Amino acid sequence: MDQQIKIYNTLTRKKEAFKPLNPPYVGMYVCGPTVYSYVHLGNCRTFTVFDIVYRYLSFLGYKVRYVRNITDVGHLESDADEGEDKIAKKAKLENLEPMEIVQRYTLDFRAVMGRLNNLSPSIEPTATGHIMEQIKMIQELLNKGLAYEANGSVYFDVSKYNEQNHYGKLSGRKIDELMAGQRSLDGQEEKRNNVDFALWKKASPEHIMRWESPWSTGFPGWHLECSVMSSKYLGEQFDIHGGGMDLQFPHHECEIAQGVGTYDKEPVQYWMHSNMLTINGQRMGKSVGNAILPNELFAGNHELLSQAYSPMTLRFFMLQTHYRSTMDLSNDALKAAERGYKKMINGLKVAKSLEYVEDASVETDEKLNKQILSIIHSIYRGMNDDLNTAVALAGMFNLLKKINSIYTGSVPSAKLDKETFRQMQETYIRFVEEVFGLVEEKPENLDLLIDTVIEEYQNAKETKNYERVDAIRAEFKKIGIVLKDMKGKVDWAYDEV
Ligand SMILES: [Zn+2]
Repeated sequence: MDQQIKIYNTLTRKKEAFKPLNPPYVGMYVCGPTVYSYVHLGNCRTFTVFDIVYRYLSFLGYKVRYVRNITDVGHLESDADEGEDKIAKKAKLENLEPMEIVQRYTLDFRAVMGRLNNLSPSIEPTATGHIMEQIKMIQELLNKGLAYEANGSVYFDVSKYNEQNHYGKLSGRKIDELMAGQRSLDGQEEKRNNVDFALWKKASPEHIMRWESPWSTGFPGWHLECSVMSSKYLGEQFDIHGGGMDLQFPHHECEIAQGVGTYDKEPVQYWMHSNMLTINGQRMGKSVGNAILPNELFAGNHELLSQAYSPMTLRFFMLQTHYRSTMDLSNDALKAAERGYKKMINGLKVAKSLEYVEDASVETDEKLNKQILSIIHSIYRGMNDDLNTAVALAGMFNLLKKINSIYTGSVPSAKLDKETFRQMQETYIRFVEEVFGLVEEKPENLDLLIDTVIEEYQNAKETKNYERVDAIRAEFKKIGIVLKDMKGKVDWAYDEV
């Protein structure tokens, strides 16, 4: 943990040195999915970004408690507290219980996260599992005069809050402009100001997801659950809050107001937001007709895709862009990512097989040792600079060049100090596996199969049956594998073209 990380804090708009409140413990909360439809690629990016944050902090030795919620109630169609509950609407549409919708899309979400090798959070709480706690927080806000009841619903009083605080500081919105905004939306008359937001909504007769409360039979406002669950599991103040940048306003702004309003403390030290995913330069969206689901990408069945791309290709693709930049998805970019991923995984195989061979006749190459240590340093520097995976990846490929030069025998390992060699090998392996979370994708029992055929290939070579040698090579090529004739043995690798 001697590594000093800097994190860009949306709240201060600056890169800041990361100093957890109670090291080595780190509390991190990320807004999870609203489980009313299949998770889309933009969400996958957000969750992969924070998986990398989780992985890297853990890698450095921090004890991270990572909380990511499941929104299973209260997320209405419109940010203005209007429209139907997204889950209830889908349930009606498909003639299912809301909890069947929740179950279906929660399972889909977890399956996709699993295929992308995103680690499970430490706690994955649901909004419906925390209704009592939400009622309690509303009560406290009412007691403090920061909320008011109107016709069975309870709203947060933003202008009251703003007498002492600054609503809008995270997103940079101006309160006057927000107040002056559209006023006469349907059903907004209950609010004192249109900028006020719902903490509790009285359920209309047809609304099926409903709970008893002191104010009405109803349901909690969407923003409330995150304040309640983050403070319950991470404390009134915690280190990192993450989410997609589209959540900055109003969702995260409301979270700050609820946290400060209830506990008189800034709830979050570092606000981190991941940028959008675009496709062929356009914003991805259902209405634009260019939204691709992860499973469509993995199967290759979408008209915008020229082939299937594996989960690890997608993961590698996401690592190539810094999380605060927009990331553009295209066939060309994905194909390049596929090559990059295979190269990196081939490197992993090589790095694992590498052994240091002592040789007194070889002189240590000081310059090479220094080069390698400086490459390793550049990988950490990339990650420490606001989790810049793009820079770290470039460093990894530089390191791989050195690893490969030893693997091919062009550089004897004895030119390195034993310690440099160890660091090189360990850094490469641990970054691929633990930090980047990339795993080898292969059909089952492929190894066994390959070994058997390689034996035959070796026999053919020994008996000078070159026709057979060529035929075997050609067959391997077809399944994307190349054979490598090494001194005294045959090895194989994924074809990088
Ligand atoms: Zn949230």
